[in-house]
Amino acid sequence: MEKKSLWLTYSPERKAECFAFNEEYKAFMSAAKTERESVTEVIKMAKAKGYRDLYEVIAEGGRLVPGDKVYANNRGKAAMFVQIGSEDLEKGLKILGAHVDSPRLDFKQNPLYEDSEFAMVKTHYYGGIKKFQWVTLPLAIHGIICKKDGTSVNVNIGEDAGDPVFGISDILPHLGKDQNGKSIGEAFTGEDLNLNIGSIPAEGEEKNAVKKNILNILKDKYGMEEEDFLSAELEVVPAGPARDLGLDRSMVYAYGHDDRVCAYTSAAAQFALADTIPDRAYVTLLVDKEEIGSVGATGMHSRFFENCMAEIMNLTGGYSELKLRRCLSNSCMLSSDVSAGFDPNFPGVHEKMNAPFFGYGPVLSKFTGSRGKGGSNDAGPEFIASLRDIFEKDEVAFQMAELGKVDQGGGGTIAYILAQYSMDVIDVGVALHNMHAPWELASKADIFETYRAYISFLTKM
Ligand code: MN
Ligand code: MN
Repeated sequence: MEKKSLWLTYSPERKAECFAFNEEYKAFMSAAKTERESVTEVIKMAKAKGYRDLYEVIAEGGRLVPGDKVYANNRGKAAMFVQIGSEDLEKGLKILGAHVDSPRLDFKQNPLYEDSEFAMVKTHYYGGIKKFQWVTLPLAIHGIICKKDGTSVNVNIGEDAGDPVFGISDILPHLGKDQNGKSIGEAFTGEDLNLNIGSIPAEGEEKNAVKKNILNILKDKYGMEEEDFLSAELEVVPAGPARDLGLDRSMVYAYGHDDRVCAYTSAAAQFALADTIPDRAYVTLLVDKEEIGSVGATGMHSRFFENCMAEIMNLTGGYSELKLRRCLSNSCMLSSDVSAGFDPNFPGVHEKMNAPFFGYGPVLSKFTGSRGKGGSNDAGPEFIASLRDIFEKDEVAFQMAELGKVDQGGGGTIAYILAQYSMDVIDVGVALHNMHAPWELASKADIFETYRAYISFLTKM
């Protein structure tokens, strides 16, 4: 069971490949900071590899044959990518799944107000955040404004070097006596997370002149009225690109590794095999809403995946309910999501024998959940054994670990939702420090080895 760091086992060529892969990953992470931007970027990658829009194939009355590649876009916030294999779909699919939403602050639907001659925005946090981490940081606004006439405008402010950024204030330590007496959970409340977006009053206005000035700017720039906030999805995220961390440049500091690190590596692995004909079809599922329970039309609980598989079956030689059921239950899946890497600053929350370490490859977790594996998928040992076998054949390093000490907390993923089709599913992913913080940390070796593990799964399983 003695293991060696990937940094010591990688050949110079593989190390170079690892660093080059991470350059592409950082470019993706800097461009894709929301679920929508992630879906847009991955569809761009897919099109470059010859993927066609499933709905266009349906509209044209087309067929799908082995080697064909299609994608389906679910409302711009989730997507699936399928490469048809030579085997009948009844024999099952090889599925890679990850989520593309990340914890953040969303604009409320009535967001804009003026207080003490500042224009401010009310936010409602999305997912599990530690609120104190989101103050006094440069923040960007990404999202979409949908208007009554059916048109929409994309918003992305704070990422270009010349862009302004936004921020949430905190009390100076000199006046922090009362705040210091509170617990972390009480000192920063959700209603305190109000975003400062301006301070110049419009001329000739008596009341709310600063807010009016901001509304004038919004009208000029986006042609929007205040009412249009009602049908907008505006997300506040940390501003700036993903960067190398460490003098040795061994790690990536980025917003939203959870779970775009698994989304990107899954898609990249499947797309790297675009010129081959699989035996059983390859599927990459990128879903939204994992951080709030996988609900809604774009979350994993939605029937979108099942509906699209019915359509695809119809285009490959005939749909039947029975064939679809067989297809789903004969499938196997790597449900990919991040894990909590051992952190020397906080050793107390891990149990060292079963904690993942940076530089030892993707983390396989037999189970997730909390309080006695509650809510967990708990992968079967037969499936785990077959993964051990293929990873050994392809010399892919992995570590078997769990998220933190027993009863220290826990977490969930989308694994249990796919397992409901009675398919084999296991949680796999990259270990992080600072999960759910504005800047999360991952090892470049783990990111690259996770990509290699997905290639192994698609080609050998
Ligand atoms: Mn996650
Ligand atoms: Mn998460």
